[in-house]
Amino acid sequence: MASAAYCDLHTHSTASDGTDAPGDLPRLVKAAGLGAWALTDHDTTAGLGEAAAASKRLGVKFVPGIELSADPDVLETGTSRGTLHVLGYYIEADDPGLAELAVTLRDARAQRNPALIANLNQLGVRIDYDEVLAAAGVQPGSADADTAIIGRPHVAQVLVDKGYVKSIHDAFQKYLGRGGAAFVRKDRLSAQRAIDAIHAAGGVAVLAHPVQLRLDTDTLEHTVARLKDLGLDGLETRHSDHGPADVELLDGFAARFTLLTTGGSDYHGARKAIDLGSQRVPMAVYEELSAVAFR
Ligand code: AMP
Ligand code: ZN
Ligand code: FE
Ligand code: FE
Repeated sequence: MASAAYCDLHTHSTASDGTDAPGDLPRLVKAAGLGAWALTDHDTTAGLGEAAAASKRLGVKFVPGIELSADPDVLETGTSRGTLHVLGYYIEADDPGLAELAVTLRDARAQRNPALIANLNQLGVRIDYDEVLAAAGVQPGSADADTAIIGRPHVAQVLVDKGYVKSIHDAFQKYLGRGGAAFVRKDRLSAQRAIDAIHAAGGVAVLAHPVQLRLDTDTLEHTVARLKDLGLDGLETRHSDHGPADVELLDGFAARFTLLTTGGSDYHGARKAIDLGSQRVPMAVYEELSAVAFR
């Protein structure tokens, strides 16, 4: 068999808000003809062991990763309306510092989720937390219920299933997103802490989907420069939310600030209409990331 040409360095599993089990993804990665992949679940390393073992069994190259949510107000001006996610690649899955951080981030969800549900109830939307857990495949009252990463996509799923909205997108638009009627701001990690935690766990820190910061070009450039000062190693230039002009702009920033470039689909399984491997990221990107990680 010819060696695979492409990889996908941004995916989610049931360990966060994806719909495929981490141990199942390698089979799909292989079926998509990819040579390497990274699992980058939100705020958790829980799926990495299973994903690594199944990847090894099937002979696909695997990068253990994480995607940390951080505060987008990186500049003193503090004006971002968007989200700042930092990808950590080749992190040590059982790093104690990262584990501690994961608990902090889970606590932020444990504060946010009930408030979000209370807001929905206030608006006449009948939904409870057990239904949200069920949407995440978690048994209410089980040990998993305390450690699961429960996100807005799970809430959105319940809203769709109960007929309150037509789609996940509508759920964010109408209720859950910033500007939505039930929106609750979640406590956020500073970008510095996210980058430091990834480095302390032996990982490479990459700014995920920079367009989601929703900044004008100049402010984005200043933000990237600031993040580079904070220790950022790379930019995710190829992503399902990026058009050709975005990729070109970001490749330029990467060259200017001596940052690595990465790419991935941000596959979430059935919950988003995004195919594994759809960004057609060359294997050279995986090779380069690996070289930087093990330098
Ligand atoms: P949370 O981490 O619980 O705040 O949820 C954030 C996650 O929701 C993101 O990482 C995306 O996976 C998803 N998400 C955010 N905005 C949207 C949207 N407009 N439509 C669909 N999914 C979204
Ligand atoms: Zn997600
Ligand atoms: Fe993200
Ligand atoms: Fe993601």
